[in-house]
Amino acid sequence: MDLLKQRIVEDGTVLPGNVLKVDNFLNHQVDTKLMDQIGEEFAKLFKDEKITKVITVESSGIAPALMTAFHIGVPLIFARKHKSLTLTDNLYTANVYSYTKQVSNDISVDKRFLNPEDRVLIIDDFLANGQAVQGLLEIAKVAKVDVAGVGIVIEKSFQKGRSMIEKTGVRLESLARIASLDNQKVTFVE
Ligand code: 5GP
Repeated sequence: MDLLKQRIVEDGTVLPGNVLKVDNFLNHQVDTKLMDQIGEEFAKLFKDEKITKVITVESSGIAPALMTAFHIGVPLIFARKHKSLTLTDNLYTANVYSYTKQVSNDISVDKRFLNPEDRVLIIDDFLANGQAVQGLLEIAKVAKVDVAGVGIVIEKSFQKGRSMIEKTGVRLESLARIASLDNQKVTFVE
């Protein structure tokens, strides 16, 4: 997606540890117009997949997942990282190690929102080592729902996430694929 790549080059900054900071348009301040186009693009890519729900992890997956769900015309579910008083014990839970925060969190989805007749699309802002996606795949497996695919806004292709997902056989679509962040420069996969 050229518009997204252009924005990464213009506004992204590379931090130590191979972290790309894009908080002025993607995951802190959000460019709603760009997010709308991202949602439209995922909806187009997965249009034949008979998706019934879009699923992500709070908080930075919510913006692209919401716009994708809106364009497909289905509900969005975001797995929660912190147990809230309104969440009961009736939960699907997986443990996820956060790449950027370097802590483990349990992520949870209320069992009422996933049923065996569902076919879900997993959306996230970044793919690094694939922990977040793996947690959602685990939840989908226990809930016995089909996974139609994984849609990623920015994939860091030099990390392990892509090969992990490819091994599961689940379809993966990334809108921008980064080959390297060496020397604080963003290089895209050709
Ligand atoms: P993974 O679970 O694939 O290792 O990492 C994915 C999660 O870590 C994403 O949901 C995202 O929040 C965060 N993340 C991973 N790499 C980056 C990065 O380079 N920049 C930012 N802003 N977040 C990242």
